[in-house]
Amino acid sequence: MPSGKINVSVENIFPLIKKFLYSDHEIFLRELVSNATDATLKLQHMVSVGEIKEDIGDPMIEIKIDKKGKKLHILDQGIGMTESEIKKYINDIAFSGAEDFLEKYKDADKDSGIIGHFGLGFYSSFMVADKVEIFSKSHKDEPGVHWSCDGTPKFTLKKSKREERGTEIILHIADDSKEFLEDSRIRELLNRYNKFMPVPIKFGTRKEALPKPEDAKPEDPAPTKEVDDIINNPTPAWTKKPAKLKEDDYKAFYKELYPMQFEEPLFNIHLNVDYPFNLTGILYFPKLSQDLNIQKDRIQLYQNQVFITDNVENIVPEFLTMLRGVIDSPDIPLNVSRSYLQADGAVKKIASYITRKVADKLNSLFKKDREDFENKWNDIKIVIEYGMLTEDKFFEKAEKFALYPSVDGSYYTLNELKEKIAANQTDKNDKLVVLYASDKEAQHSYIEAAKAKGYEVLLMDSPIISHLVQKLESSHENLTFARVDADHLDKLIQKEDSQISKLSDEETEKLKTQLEEVIGEQGLVLQLEPMDSKEAPFIITEPEFMRRMKEMQQTGGGGMFGMGQMPEMYNLVINTNHELVNEILNTRTAKKRERLINQSLDLARLSKGLLKGEALTEFITRSYGMIK
Ligand code: ADP
Repeated sequence: MPSGKINVSVENIFPLIKKFLYSDHEIFLRELVSNATDATLKLQHMVSVGEIKEDIGDPMIEIKIDKKGKKLHILDQGIGMTESEIKKYINDIAFSGAEDFLEKYKDADKDSGIIGHFGLGFYSSFMVADKVEIFSKSHKDEPGVHWSCDGTPKFTLKKSKREERGTEIILHIADDSKEFLEDSRIRELLNRYNKFMPVPIKFGTRKEALPKPEDAKPEDPAPTKEVDDIINNPTPAWTKKPAKLKEDDYKAFYKELYPMQFEEPLFNIHLNVDYPFNLTGILYFPKLSQDLNIQKDRIQLYQNQVFITDNVENIVPEFLTMLRGVIDSPDIPLNVSRSYLQADGAVKKIASYITRKVADKLNSLFKKDREDFENKWNDIKIVIEYGMLTEDKFFEKAEKFALYPSVDGSYYTLNELKEKIAANQTDKNDKLVVLYASDKEAQHSYIEAAKAKGYEVLLMDSPIISHLVQKLESSHENLTFARVDADHLDKLIQKEDSQISKLSDEETEKLKTQLEEVIGEQGLVLQLEPMDSKEAPFIITEPEFMRRMKEMQQTGGGGMFGMGQMPEMYNLVINTNHELVNEILNTRTAKKRERLINQSLDLARLSKGLLKGEALTEFITRSYGMIK
């Protein structure tokens, strides 16, 4: 988009309109259909309050393409305009409106986004037309009028013979905008912007099948009749009272919104508030995958049933942009920049209302049918965990329903978990140690070792889990989290019956030297521990803190950028009570000892998933050598 100071004056407004709204030319149709809708609703309102007594029938809006004449017609049967109203609303107001708009827009080039959705009303038609005509007849007893303007600020305004109430706008489509004379393009736009507008919109006709007459032969084709092709559903589900809707109605509306989506939503949340702001809508929880990024931009924002955008960032809290559905609020300012939008009071209130409603819904689902909630957990957890991480209010509420599944498929709330582990999982500072695995397969041997000791191990496998764990620790003083492979379990969890070493101090020293000689500098910190003789002789662990920081760096957020790459750091824990370790110590030949140490180390690496490439090949060759 070009930048620079604009000298706003009415003289040169049309070229500017065109230039500045370059990417959004198509919104002219939304603007004109909105005007036609308003005019119709105003008429219906006047009838309902008795100001107009005649029968107005069922007014509709019609869009017609005249390809030969290069014209696009927008017709309505609304209140219409008198000559003086055209002067007042079209000539004066619209011009000053356009000027205001450009004044605002001139600084916004780097901040495009929602601002591009801000309409210019009637004058946006000059983005695609080089001449625009209005034929109108007011509901008042005044003659029809014909207004015409060719893009210069000069216009003509004459009486017209038009008899029927309402307005017809004729756009003489410019040569560079011929796409808007294509049926498919107009249909696409009507479907995008006008699909749920409150007045029926006709675009051409379609054939509708009639029942076959009784005497018809089977091979006779079914008779058809031409009917108006109405583009929109004037009464979409979100405009109805929640009490009037059944589960199937919500599902049907989901299909209407996402015709290509075959999977049903898990559940929905009907938003409906009129004070202190106006908001209606329906949000759906779809089945979510682990990928945070591909699922955004599915919530549609409407204002009084007019589609505005499907980018609701800054309006809906970020974690909820993974949901689907519709929100409709006339109280969201659109003619402002993104940063302003975030600071806007009404928008903040809307965001926190939506957050609260979502939390309440989750809580009631949890309370109503816990088993069902547990079954859905895997599909919804990413939203909940992300919300807990990013919205403190949500975090507080989620304490009640956020679940922590164990590797064996039990589900606990945090409180239940605390109770469960309080008896035998505390560290030396009396903090409860929550053991978790992030990958059941990769951490299998560690999980088994923990289970053998009677510990509860959670399965926390979301991509953002290290951030969440960090957050949970900082808000629960008596909790500490450790992945099963973070350290040797006996070090993580304080056991009263600590093991007595079978080795003397001298023997331990000797073993240490032997190990150091063979292993050398491989970035492993040696830890000699007297453990139960049934536990593995060699175990590789990765300190919780280092690993967590590294993960947080990779998944971003939390000010973790710019900290520099975290080094890899592993501990090699040696069980000095294990028979094999004893054998290493007492082996006579250095060669055999070296082989035992290397083989054990490789097995420990293998179990931690660290044995790869050349080292793996060597290990395999060595192993074959040993068994042949
Ligand atoms: P806005 O719709 O934001 O008021 P517009 O420039 O689109 O701005 O329209 C200016 C005014 O012209 C409208 O407020 C309305 O009074 C009148 N108007 C526009 N289109 C129609 C129409 N189809 N029927 C009746 N009045 C109309």
